[in-house]
Amino acid sequence: MSGISDSFQRPISYLRVSVTDRCNLRCVYCMPPGGVSLVPRSEILTYEEIATVVRVAAEMGISKVRISGGEPLARAGLAGLVRMVSQIEGIDDVSLTTNGVLLKEQAFELAEAGLRRVNISLDSLKRQRFKEITGYDKLSEVLEGIDEARRADLSPVKINVVVMRGINDDELLDFALLSREGWNVRFIELMPLVNGGGKHREFVPASEIRDRISSLGELLPCSPPLGNGPASYYQLQGAKGTIGFITPVSEHFCFKCNRLRLAADGKLLPCLLADEEVDLRPVLRRDASPEEIGKLILQAVASKPQGHRVNQGIVPQKRSMTQVGG
Ligand code: SAM
Repeated sequence: MSGISDSFQRPISYLRVSVTDRCNLRCVYCMPPGGVSLVPRSEILTYEEIATVVRVAAEMGISKVRISGGEPLARAGLAGLVRMVSQIEGIDDVSLTTNGVLLKEQAFELAEAGLRRVNISLDSLKRQRFKEITGYDKLSEVLEGIDEARRADLSPVKINVVVMRGINDDELLDFALLSREGWNVRFIELMPLVNGGGKHREFVPASEIRDRISSLGELLPCSPPLGNGPASYYQLQGAKGTIGFITPVSEHFCFKCNRLRLAADGKLLPCLLADEEVDLRPVLRRDASPEEIGKLILQAVASKPQGHRVNQGIVPQKRSMTQVGG
């Protein structure tokens, strides 16, 4: 296995796969107010086509795959994809990002198929507010999904909270306190996106989130540092769980970005927050050789920008988060 690096010498080892652009929630910051136009089902990659891409990518040095969406658990038979991908030589970590609504029914089957860990998006612990943010009265389903993921030994279970001023920032301490009970909570800065609903006035910088949580006690940096992604992790004294911060807006972490993203329609994106893309679907549908697919993967890697420019107000125009996988 060779290993690939981009033009800025960043090793690329992680593929994020969106398996659907459909979602069973309508989070205010993610979906454009009028909804998104959905890709016809015939244009969504089949699980076999996704596995083909992963197989070629693994040959090139990709070792980690995260499955996302839309809502990945809303696509039938996801455990089948997890099984295929986790059996590919070179793939040593298969994880999932989900809103958790359907996790209770699927956690054990996914774990048995080879899923290692799961990130669950949860922006409020209050039933009515959860409904206002997501459009659906599904908080109890998500909480049950979190419990079931733990019972199924998916580890770690991380809870992703997008922080919005005036909407859920009064729950920062409630979420942080759950780390004492073993929750791994990550606070994500709201990204103001053209195609999503994230508004500038609701943005709370991670530095402020950190300061407010520090009122609970000193935040001790985790040692050794956790994870291979963009979060920085801390712990409250004596807590079993962790508190993470993801700062796409205030503190660039592009310099260590190791990712490519495969959208549900087969476009390979070198950056979440840029419009560059390479279309893999036509070659996949004419049964091209692994070499041809590999060439297109290299083309996407070569076009990976040095960094996104969200904090200069330059945001992707073509796709919303739900279409790229967040
Ligand atoms: N449906 C799954 C879920 O809810 O986790 C996966 C897809 S969702 C698009 C992936 C992640 O993107 C979620 O954690 C979501 O909170 C995050 N996200 C979407 N829009 C965002 C925005 N404007 N700012 C920050 N995070 C965002």
